[in-house]
Amino acid sequence: MSDTATLPRPTVAEPRFFDALKRYWGYDAFRPRQEEIVRALASGRDVCVVMPTGGGKSLCYQLPAVLREDRTAVVISPLIALMQDQVAQLRQMGIPAVFLNSAVAESDRRELRQKAIAGEYRLIYVSPERALMDGTADWLRQVPLSFFAIDEAHCISQWGHDFRPEYRQLAKLRALFPGLPIAALTASATRQVRHDIVRQLHLRDPLKSVSSFRRENLRYFVRQCKGTMQDDSVAEAVKKVKDGNVIVYTPTVARVGEVTDLLEEQGIAAVGYHGQMDAPTRRENQEKWMSEEVRVLVGTVAFGLGINKPNVRAVIRLGLPESIEQLYQETGRAGRDGLPADCYIFWEKKDNGLHAFFINQIGDSEEKDRAWQRYHQIQQFVGAQKCRQKEICNHFGELAKWDRCGVCDVCAGTPKWLSGINQSSSRKSRPIRNPNRILEASEYELNPIAEVNEELREFLREWRRNTARRKMIAAFVVLHDTTLDAICQAQPQAVVELRQISGMGEKKCELYGEEILDALRRFSGGERARKDWHLEARSPSQETLELLEEGRTFCEIAQLRGRKVSSVVALVADLVEKGETPFRPVWVDPIHQQHILEASARLGLDLLRPIKEAVPEQITYESVRLVVAHARRQKQSQTSAA
Ligand code: ADP
Ligand code: ZN
Repeated sequence: MSDTATLPRPTVAEPRFFDALKRYWGYDAFRPRQEEIVRALASGRDVCVVMPTGGGKSLCYQLPAVLREDRTAVVISPLIALMQDQVAQLRQMGIPAVFLNSAVAESDRRELRQKAIAGEYRLIYVSPERALMDGTADWLRQVPLSFFAIDEAHCISQWGHDFRPEYRQLAKLRALFPGLPIAALTASATRQVRHDIVRQLHLRDPLKSVSSFRRENLRYFVRQCKGTMQDDSVAEAVKKVKDGNVIVYTPTVARVGEVTDLLEEQGIAAVGYHGQMDAPTRRENQEKWMSEEVRVLVGTVAFGLGINKPNVRAVIRLGLPESIEQLYQETGRAGRDGLPADCYIFWEKKDNGLHAFFINQIGDSEEKDRAWQRYHQIQQFVGAQKCRQKEICNHFGELAKWDRCGVCDVCAGTPKWLSGINQSSSRKSRPIRNPNRILEASEYELNPIAEVNEELREFLREWRRNTARRKMIAAFVVLHDTTLDAICQAQPQAVVELRQISGMGEKKCELYGEEILDALRRFSGGERARKDWHLEARSPSQETLELLEEGRTFCEIAQLRGRKVSSVVALVADLVEKGETPFRPVWVDPIHQQHILEASARLGLDLLRPIKEAVPEQITYESVRLVVAHARRQKQSQTSAA
């Protein structure tokens, strides 16, 4: 895969690499492959890097850029949001960097160009369109450059899943700047796409570094959904995530609205994101999600490129993606911080029709063939009973030395909470292949994140949130969750101790060291975080509770809140089960209550549907839901009292 095996292995580590790693990033060691890539680029060699999302690609070019103290690297990146985040993070580390795009005012651009000519920046980020405009090239020739780094390099290839014509222009870079090394980086590229990248960019004997496509911290679950199964599955999957963010991808714009409503009706705050939304709303929603004011974002494919939030704990894909690459890229946004995260694909038979329809619209016959090929591959992927991780690796041409990831739905079975969700009609769902594996999977702890003092974590997060707001940057740009958790565990008392923590580089300590120590002291003195900042997340239930207190009926509440009665009942049942509001006997006819309780005594309290099917037909699903919620609550308080 990689030709690094043929290179002479260095016998001594180069201290300057490690010094910079510790000084700026606050890291103690390189991740796999990073060092060899840094070394190659720093020595002037071209590189072609394929490294999965979260692998740490940015550092591969940022560190060599930092080492050239009088020079500037040009990073070509397709998205404004991504550039801004990257530059904000670099500045937080004390590395002079800027971006040049349409968001920068003309007067600022002029100043920035002058400073660049004076060699003031280590990195300049530009879009591919801008990089090759006549004016830009003329200006860049006056800047003391070190090298070019091309992010999302797969966009240059028509064989990739995200071909962008403006990338084709980059083929001219070599001729325009013959003396400068070029680094091409991507998270997903098949062998064919890799060849295309090397050829089109005219890379000269590049170091080809292809990391494994395996993402060890990700668990894949693929499930075919019928009827209402998809709705129920997405709601349950979101509820499984206790901490961190969630992305739900939907196949259509209409579905974004539906799923957002569906979640809100269950008391889960969610925001939407799609191409037909006006730009300010889109931006606002994205910011709410980035700041964790709302943890769930429901979007179309339009969302995500350039989103590098480290603590996404689940990506839920509704419907079949167009290709395995697209799937890999979307689900790849989960778990960038290396902690466990889950990826779900809830697909339906009718997705196929939608794909076929769009493919048939493609005019270019070669492009159409490629689209069909991708379509067949993704169909095979969901249909095959083979380890999901391994199948993905195979797709990218990786000869994996392992057989099973051990945690995906094929390796470990579908978890019980998920396999318990069935279609609403009485048709029997397909038998599960290996029923004895279900137990195994349900016992597997979800998201086992290192144990930390929850109150302290919340307190530090509050500090971070306020800091981020004040500086108008994203919270993770201030500190990553992993760094924050490490601080919770170590509880340092002096800046020198803080400096030992991974992610606390020199500049971060200078910027925030005292503030963090102060926050720790205030915590010891008894201060705690405000409880109610996830305001929106609580409002549907809060509002409903208030209306209940006023003595409103479910129908009235539904009307007042513009929701369906069934949704209001679902929300109230949830509140009853959590003990946040008492069960009121007037809700359900006493005889009906008795029927439901008898049935649940026989069938257990886990699933509603069997109980509903066992009681007389006139008893509504809503009644079952409420009574069962009450019974679950009672059982809980009994067990906790015992
Ligand atoms: P990619 O661009 O490949 O998706 P990033 O460059 O965003 O990945 O890095 C992913 C995460 O890993 C970031 O949070 C980054 O700070 C962290 N990271 C990168 N290299 C290291 C390292 N050597 N040690 C610890 N964390 C690292
Ligand atoms: Zn597996």
